[in-house]
Amino acid sequence: MNSEMIIQIVREVHKVYEANAPEIEKLDQAIGDGDHVFNMRRGIQAILEIDEALVPLKPGEALNKIAMTLLSSIGGAAGPLFASMFMGMAKVPGSDDIHDSKTVAKMFSSGVELVKQRGKADVGDKTMLDVLIPVSNLFSELVEKSDLPKNEILKQLMAEAERGMLSTKDIVATKGRASYLGERAKGHIDPGAKSCQLILFTICDYLMNRE
Ligand code: ADP
Ligand code: MG
Repeated sequence: MNSEMIIQIVREVHKVYEANAPEIEKLDQAIGDGDHVFNMRRGIQAILEIDEALVPLKPGEALNKIAMTLLSSIGGAAGPLFASMFMGMAKVPGSDDIHDSKTVAKMFSSGVELVKQRGKADVGDKTMLDVLIPVSNLFSELVEKSDLPKNEILKQLMAEAERGMLSTKDIVATKGRASYLGERAKGHIDPGAKSCQLILFTICDYLMNRE
């Protein structure tokens, strides 16, 4: 994994996010204030704008730079939360020289841990963490099974992300703006969870069948 690959993934995410933006916008209009897609687009755009500065960096350094860029470009709750994800990933020793899936799983878990701390949230609060936590747990578990082919791991992670995203539908929110709605938040998927599922789906899809 090198910084060029990170940039290619961000370009893929940009394409897929644009195609799904109207659907996600509706989710935040239903249980938030409607700005989630705007925030996400702005963050993705800001990363694309620094692509040339990212190329010469080691992956860990690039992830840190992305975190700083997200902090200064995305407003709302999502900015600091996504920045924490990238900062946490970059904190892992070995993030500058990624050569196995165990390191990636450790980085993912460290990123999710920082999002949990930052958001003071956990599974069941109807947030992006309902996708991130189960995917991270499963990822850590699967990389320990040395006989699993990479594509099988990716397939299982995509399925777990989807499960996590759907799990936010029929619960009330206990964190973020949606928590003001009480029971009225039920029946709607959390927009942050949908964004995370879509981004993870895109990353897994990109990595599938690639060395
Ligand atoms: P805002 O809520 O400030 O308008 P966004 O609309 O960009 O920001 O993001 C909303 C998303 O952020 C929610 O859908 C939820 O997934 C996530 N979120 C909100 N609060 C928290 C929190 N405390 N911890 C984790 N995620 C959160
Ligand atoms: Mg919002």
